[in-house]
Amino acid sequence: MLRRFFSYYKPYKKLFTITFISAIFVALLELAFPIIVNQVVDRLLPQGEISIIILACLALFVIYIFNSGAHYIVTYWGHILGINIETDMRRELFAHVQNLSYSYHDNNKTGHLLSNLTNDLFEIGEVAHHGPEDVFTAIMTLFGSFGVMLYINWQLAVITFIVVPLLTWIVVYCNRKMSGAMRLMFQRMANFNARVEDTLGGIRLVQAFANEKHEQKLFKEDNENFREAKIRSYKIMGVNNSLSYMMMRIMTLFVLLTGAYFMLQNQLSIGDFMAFILLTNIFFRPIEKINAIIESYPKGYAGFKRYLAIMDTEPEIQDRPEAEDVQGLKGNIQYKDVTFGYDAERPVLENIHLDIEQGETIAFVGPSGAGKTTLCSLLPRFYDVLDGDITIDGHSIKDITLTSLREQIGVVQQDVFMFSGTLRDNIRYGNLDASDEEVMEAARLAELEDFIQDQPDGLDTVVGERGVKLSGGQKQRLSIARMFLKNPPILILDEATSALDTETEAAIQRALEKLSVGRTTLVIAHRLTTIKHADRIVVITKEGIAEEGNHKELLAQGGHYSRLYNAQQTLI
Ligand code: ADP
Ligand code: MG
Repeated sequence: MLRRFFSYYKPYKKLFTITFISAIFVALLELAFPIIVNQVVDRLLPQGEISIIILACLALFVIYIFNSGAHYIVTYWGHILGINIETDMRRELFAHVQNLSYSYHDNNKTGHLLSNLTNDLFEIGEVAHHGPEDVFTAIMTLFGSFGVMLYINWQLAVITFIVVPLLTWIVVYCNRKMSGAMRLMFQRMANFNARVEDTLGGIRLVQAFANEKHEQKLFKEDNENFREAKIRSYKIMGVNNSLSYMMMRIMTLFVLLTGAYFMLQNQLSIGDFMAFILLTNIFFRPIEKINAIIESYPKGYAGFKRYLAIMDTEPEIQDRPEAEDVQGLKGNIQYKDVTFGYDAERPVLENIHLDIEQGETIAFVGPSGAGKTTLCSLLPRFYDVLDGDITIDGHSIKDITLTSLREQIGVVQQDVFMFSGTLRDNIRYGNLDASDEEVMEAARLAELEDFIQDQPDGLDTVVGERGVKLSGGQKQRLSIARMFLKNPPILILDEATSALDTETEAAIQRALEKLSVGRTTLVIAHRLTTIKHADRIVVITKEGIAEEGNHKELLAQGGHYSRLYNAQQTLI
C-alpha cells in the first residue's frame, strides 16, 4: 500500500526533492541556537569581548534568514506537491468510476463516490504533503538533538531519553485507536452525503408525497450517527493530546531535576545546562509534530484505503485484449441461445434465439417485468450474457471494442436523462462536434423545431436540473434529436411513447418513424397501436419468447398478442 502511495510522487520527483531538502535544512538549522548559546555562555562570555558575541548573533541571524526561506519552500511548494497528487488521484478516480459497469452503479450510491472524490482525496492530499517530509524531519531533529545532547553530556542524555519509549508507546497506541475512529467517521459521512444526494435528487417526489418529516427523520439518524462518530474521534484526540502534553512536561521536569543535580556535582557547566534545556524543547517539537501527523494520518489512511477499494474494482464489462474497433456495422443481429440474469441463480432470460435482419424493425411486447428491457440492454453490453452469444454482422459483440459498439447503437429510453445546461448542450450530446445548423436540423427531424423557436433564448434555453423545465414529450423529442445527430445503424427504443398524451404521441411517433428509416430498430412498446407496422412482433413472457410474427399473423393466431391488442382497443 505504501508503494502505491509513493508511486503518485513519481511525476513530482523534483518538487519532492526540493521540499525534502528544505525540510532537512529547517530541522538541522534549528539545532544551531542551543549550540551557539552553549558556546556564548561557556566560552565567549568569559572572554569579556562583546564584539565576538555580536559576531555570533550575526551568524545566527544569517542562519535564520536562510531558514525562513526554507520554511517558505516547505509550506508553499510542499502544499503544491500535495495538491498535485490530490488532483491526479481525483482525475484517475473519476475516469475509473465512469468505466465501472452498470452492475456496479446499480449497487453503489452516488453520494459515496462523491465523498471519495472530495473529502477523502483532500485528506489524502494533506498526508501526501505532510507525511514523508514531516516524518523524516521529525526523526532528523530527534536524532540531531539527541546527538548534540550526547556530545554535551552523555549520562544526562541517556537519562533524559529513558522517557522516550513510553512516549512512543502512547503515541502508537493512540494512533491505532484514532485510525479506527476516523474510518468510522468517514463511513458515516459518506452515508450522510448519500442521503442528502438521494433526498434532494428526489425532492419533487418527497414534496409530492408530503414526506418531508419522514425524510427529516432518516436524515436525523444519519446526522446523529455522524455526530457520534465525530465526537468519538475527538475524544480520542483529546486523550491523545493531554497524554502527550503530560509526558513532555514530565520530561522537562526530569531534565531540570537531573541537570541541577549534575551541576551540583560539578559535572555540568551553566552553558551546557542551558543548551540542554533548550534542546529538550527542540526535541519536543518533533514529538509534537509526529503527534500531529498521527492525527491527520488516519484520515488520509482511511481515505486512501477507500480510494484503493474503488480503484481496484475492475469494470465487469471491458474490452477483451483482442477486441477490434469495428466501424460501419450494418445491423444483422443474432441472439444465440442467450441466457442472462442479474443474479446468476435467477435467470431473467433463458435460451433466447433471435435473428434480426439489417434494416428490420422488430417490436417486443409482453407483460411488465418479462425482460424486454433486459434483452435489449444486452446488445450494447450494459450487461454481459451469462451464456450464449450475441453477434452483429457475424462479430461477437465481445470482440468489438465497447466504444465502437456503443457508438453504433442508439438507445432512447422512456425516462430520458437530461444534464443541466442548455437545449443545445443536451441535443449535442449525440455528437459533440455538431454545428448549430446540424443541431437545428436534428431538432426539425425530431419535431422540436417549433418549440425551440418559441423560446426567447432558442438553443440557449436552460433546461434546469435533469431537464425539469421541459415536459415529458419535449424531453422525449429532445432525446430523439440527439439520436439523429448520433446517427447509429442500430436503434433501441424502449417504451419511448408510453408516457405521453395522444397528440404528442403522434408527433413522436412520426419522429421515431423517420428515425428508424434505414436502421435496424428494436422497439419495446406498451401501446400496441404504435408498433402495428413493425416488420415483426415478438411476444415475450416470463417463460421466454411466446409468439412471433407480424401484426396480422399474430391477430389471426388468437394468442397473447390478439388478447392484448383487443383489450387495448376496447380501452380506446
Ligand atoms: P420489462 O422491460 O419487460 O418490463 P425488465 O427487463 O426491466 O422487464 O426486467 C426483467 C426482470 O429483471 C424484472 O424482474 C426486474 O425486476 C429485473 N431487473 C431489471 N433491472 C434490474 C437490475 N438492474 N438489477 C436487478 N434486477 C433487475
Ligand atoms: Mg422495460
